[in-house]
Amino acid sequence: MHLKSLTVKGFKSFASATTLRLEPGITCVVGPNGSGKSNVVDAIAWVLGEQGAKALRGGKMEDVIFAGTSGRAPLGRAEVTLTIDNNDGALPIEYTEVSITRRMFRDGASEYEINGNQCRLLDIQELLSDSGIGREMHIIVGQGRLDAMLHAKPEDRRAFIEEAAGVLKHRKRKEKAIRKLDAMQVNLNRLTDLTAELR
Ligand code: ATP
Repeated sequence: MHLKSLTVKGFKSFASATTLRLEPGITCVVGPNGSGKSNVVDAIAWVLGEQGAKALRGGKMEDVIFAGTSGRAPLGRAEVTLTIDNNDGALPIEYTEVSITRRMFRDGASEYEINGNQCRLLDIQELLSDSGIGREMHIIVGQGRLDAMLHAKPEDRRAFIEEAAGVLKHRKRKEKAIRKLDAMQVNLNRLTDLTAELR
């Protein structure tokens, strides 16, 4: 599995549609300060489902939408598509090429697609969860992040390892199931009370 291409449109400094083709191996992005190198990395994190504006170096999520320049009006939406080569079947889907798209509008509405089919964020998270590209984005190590990992509390470090090992997905599902069971128990208790009152 490797990243094949990234298309950004209306995302941060990329007003016009721009496609970066990525070859297997190491890719270096070079350019002057402020030219948008980190925005490329932000685009990858965003399309993979990043939900924190701070992780994308913004104040709020809408900050990812092209805000305009002296010569160009702001845009109403941001769109990023990441195409992944899946010839090795690392992603559990019957396609040798998988394109993930995320779109966001100024009113905060978001859309996600897998190979052009609309889906939920959860579908993307589940698709990626066993591939090592997780929700917590450990594949992207930003400036200062390495330091944070080295100084992390043992439980936080355990979360990194669980995510990398694909355990986190099952932990989240278990937590969700427990919450549902708790809510069901409350309903059952209420039902028992009502039945007793009616007797
Ligand atoms: P450095 O080498 O200094 O780290 P860089 O090449 O990584 O810089 P980025 O941080 O990726 O640069 O890009 C910063 C540029 O992106 C700034 O010029 C900023 O104005 C622009 N930018 C960020 N968000 C938006 C947005 N929503 N709309 C328009 N431009 C934006």
